[in-house]
Amino acid sequence: MTLKEKTEKLRVIKNELLGLEKSPLFSFRQANNFFPVIGEGNHEAKIMFVGEAPGRNEAKTGRPFCGAAGKILDDLLTGVGINRAEVYVTNIIKDRPPQNRDPLPEEIACYGPFLDRQIEIIEPRVIATLGRFSMRYILEKFAVPEALKSISELHGKIFSAQAPYGPIVVIPFYHPAAAIYNRALIDDLKKDFAILKNYR
Ligand code: URA
Repeated sequence: MTLKEKTEKLRVIKNELLGLEKSPLFSFRQANNFFPVIGEGNHEAKIMFVGEAPGRNEAKTGRPFCGAAGKILDDLLTGVGINRAEVYVTNIIKDRPPQNRDPLPEEIACYGPFLDRQIEIIEPRVIATLGRFSMRYILEKFAVPEALKSISELHGKIFSAQAPYGPIVVIPFYHPAAAIYNRALIDDLKKDFAILKNYR
């Protein structure tokens, strides 16, 4: 697929999400003048980051990881010499849940297929999950046997998987926002992010 075709297909996804009235989060989006957060970055990225759900800043702007968690993500990327523009950043849930609560199963079921399509369009070689919800979704999607284990066991491990377009690796990371409340996690995140140097 050419870059132009990828960009066009991603535009179709954006338009579908803008009009996704069947989403359990659509009325909350409308009531607050929020935007869906589709994803941002290089449409030919080798590395795709999959976060959890937009926070308030993200829903106000339509851009992923542009608030406090985004600052940590940017610092982690800088630490391993990766420019944010090189990678693609998205979330499993495309609309902000009220009070930033955990995503519900029906929300994951609603938005998961959009993430699946983004993966097939961008064809990343590395899927870097941020937090336990995207970790679980991606590991189950690629039938990784460890999928049900906890993030404290799986973070920083490299899982080989087969995507429709070829072999990939999935690397689970703690969610950067978790490091806001638990500073000890920043050391795990830094150590785990160093793995990405091998996949640029
Ligand atoms: N947290 C996420 O998981 N995603 C964002 O886009 C922002 C914060």
